[in-house]
Amino acid sequence: MQHDATAAATLPVGPPDGAVSLAGTEVAALWSVRQPDGTLVDVSFVGGRVAALSPTASRPPGVVAGPGLDARGWRALPAACEPHAHLDKAFTAARFPAERGADLEGAVARWRALAPRVDRADVLGRARSAVERYASRGTTTIRTHVDAPAEGDPLRMLDALLALRDELAGSVTVQVCLLAGWHTPTAVLVEAAARGADVLGGCPHLAPDPHGEVTRVLDVAERTGLPVDLHVDEQTSLASGGALDIEDLARQVLARGLTQRVTASHAVRLGSLPPDRLGPVVELVARAGLGVVTLPITNLYLQGRDATHLAPRGLTAVRALLDAGVPVAAGADNVRDPFNPVGSCDPFETTALLMTAAHLSEREALDAVTTTPRTVLGMPPAGLALGDRADLVLVPDVPLGDVLAGAEPARVVVAGGRVVADTRVRRDLALGVAHRAAGPSTRKTVPVPDQLVR
Ligand SMILES: [Zn+2]
Repeated sequence: MQHDATAAATLPVGPPDGAVSLAGTEVAALWSVRQPDGTLVDVSFVGGRVAALSPTASRPPGVVAGPGLDARGWRALPAACEPHAHLDKAFTAARFPAERGADLEGAVARWRALAPRVDRADVLGRARSAVERYASRGTTTIRTHVDAPAEGDPLRMLDALLALRDELAGSVTVQVCLLAGWHTPTAVLVEAAARGADVLGGCPHLAPDPHGEVTRVLDVAERTGLPVDLHVDEQTSLASGGALDIEDLARQVLARGLTQRVTASHAVRLGSLPPDRLGPVVELVARAGLGVVTLPITNLYLQGRDATHLAPRGLTAVRALLDAGVPVAAGADNVRDPFNPVGSCDPFETTALLMTAAHLSEREALDAVTTTPRTVLGMPPAGLALGDRADLVLVPDVPLGDVLAGAEPARVVVAGGRVVADTRVRRDLALGVAHRAAGPSTRKTVPVPDQLVR
């Protein structure tokens, strides 16, 4: 690592509650930043990638081209990667009457009733707002699914998200996956590929002929060479005959010898299978090289509504898949729409749910929202290893568990070596009798977090 503090300008990142903003800053180096393993390092970037790395204490003199950030008090994690969003539906919950909510089929029906009145500008505005939230919370890569509505131009929502993808290129990477319904003509899938869709998707679990739907999407994928990401088995009860979309998908991938990446999203039914039925399915999924995406917040909301007791959790068989070496990524899925009325586009909301509902360790939960989704999406690695893309999220240097619990709102987000979002949070307190009696002049402002652990 080459560094000379007198030759290279050094900016302090500043405290988590500070008024400073680094947004837009090109970062040539980070000094004294804590890695996920707890060690302090100096790291420099060239061309948006990690070019050199050394322990902070052994920093030799030298020169770094450009300003470095003194990151004492901050911890760098790989930036989050959202493997499964629905940006076309984001923030539409308020357009529906406030009710108890609905299961999957009910949510689909509500969305379909609204979709004819959703135009390109509507999608673009809400999707941009969602991406801003994702980015500010540490996500620099997003795969979004997009519907092909039956009424009007079926590709107007796709066009909106392709425009957003291109607008954001270089800061936030967006992959757009056409979510074909079983009613969507095959010509629309082909046209979506021609317009620049990154991925082909579909919903065999909602189709009258699930096998036919898996087959149809894979046929187009073979013709176009595009990766595939299907919504599969998003139910807790088995289909009649016990067939699983994911088994069909895995068998067809193997039989066709597909080389592009194929992802199975949701796969909720696997979580309801007894071990003797689950084992061969997991083995098949591993053999076919599928990636699996679990979406805890939405499936905890949608599934199990009929249960009078012992309600299922709605997650896939996360532990069995991980044990078999299947890459299992996790995402936030829907946000404030008919499929999920809550959510905050926050990867650490997902990590908290993975630890509570899927019983993952801290490390496993972090991997599921950072490194593993990049593998599933076919993205190059991001983080602090040599050659990694410099996509990072700086969080206060508190124990990692506090971050994964979603308890730390302050974040500085770097994409390709440039700060794309900077969030500081100030907390004013006026607690207790003494403060109440003395009035606002004794109000206490504390940094967030209360005490930095070094
Ligand atoms: Zn989905």
